[in-house]
Amino acid sequence: MTDAQASPGQPKTAIVTGGARGIGAAIARRLSADGLQVAVLDLDEAGAKATAAGIVESGGQAIGVAADVSDEDAVRAAVAQVATELGPPLVVVNNAGVTRDNLIFKMGATDWDTVMNVHLRGAFLVTKAAQSYMVDAKWGRIVNISSTSALGNRGQVNYSAAKAGLQGFTKTLAIELGKYGVTANSVAPGFIDTEMTRATAARLGLDPEEHMKNAAARTPVGRVGRPEDIANAVAFFVDERSGFVSGQVIYAAGGPRA
Ligand code: NAP
Repeated sequence: MTDAQASPGQPKTAIVTGGARGIGAAIARRLSADGLQVAVLDLDEAGAKATAAGIVESGGQAIGVAADVSDEDAVRAAVAQVATELGPPLVVVNNAGVTRDNLIFKMGATDWDTVMNVHLRGAFLVTKAAQSYMVDAKWGRIVNISSTSALGNRGQVNYSAAKAGLQGFTKTLAIELGKYGVTANSVAPGFIDTEMTRATAARLGLDPEEHMKNAAARTPVGRVGRPEDIANAVAFFVDERSGFVSGQVIYAAGGPRA
């Protein structure tokens, strides 16, 4: 079956986790602009609903759904709700994320577990719940948000392990699900101006604007990233015409590394 046969003009449904703000909200808005219906899934129910409301105001179709991606029952219920209210989720963007930075000698096991649970267990649970709809439809798109930290980053042994893990997860999904018309790819952002990076600045005792300026200075394109930069890379993988691209990682970082 070709991509065209799999999409007889019906808008497809996407789930974007962590879509209440930052990169996830930009991805949700971009996928809506590209013609998808979007379920914005987040711990922060008010934020998820606000992102969805903004999309609806702009003429799109979206719902906000509250769920902790690391909670198996909550994920199962949320994905079923999306299927009932919007239609089978054929696109999943695993974007929800947290940081709990510290040098390894100071890092507690709870901070290790929290990061693994949100990024890895979360991506596993959401993908597992949605993939059966994709397999039934013989079409699907999975995009996992990794990070340049997958290549190693001081103070982020938990986060970099999780983000590298997501790349392995992506490649294996591509191998297992390819025969069902499902692609799996990963976008690995560099430094993006969001609450996550502003919170990092605050934790390091740095002025956020100074922190951004420093990051821009070490980035080849001379600026930090915007959430829309990442949404654009995600949109490429989700595109109907990207069906022959699978198991890949795009570093969207303003250079080979940022
Ligand atoms: P952000 O502004 O902190 O947004 C993350 C969103 O994820 C928040 O709305 C948060 O909700 C939600 N979330 C956290 N834990 C969750 C859970 N268990 N279940 C459901 N939702 C949850 O972060 P961001 O900068 O947009 O980052 C988005 C993704 O890009 C993350 O995976 C991050 O690791 C990755 N990334 C970011 C950068 C960067 O420079 N910003 C670089 C590389 C990769 P709450 O507010 O309720 O916690």
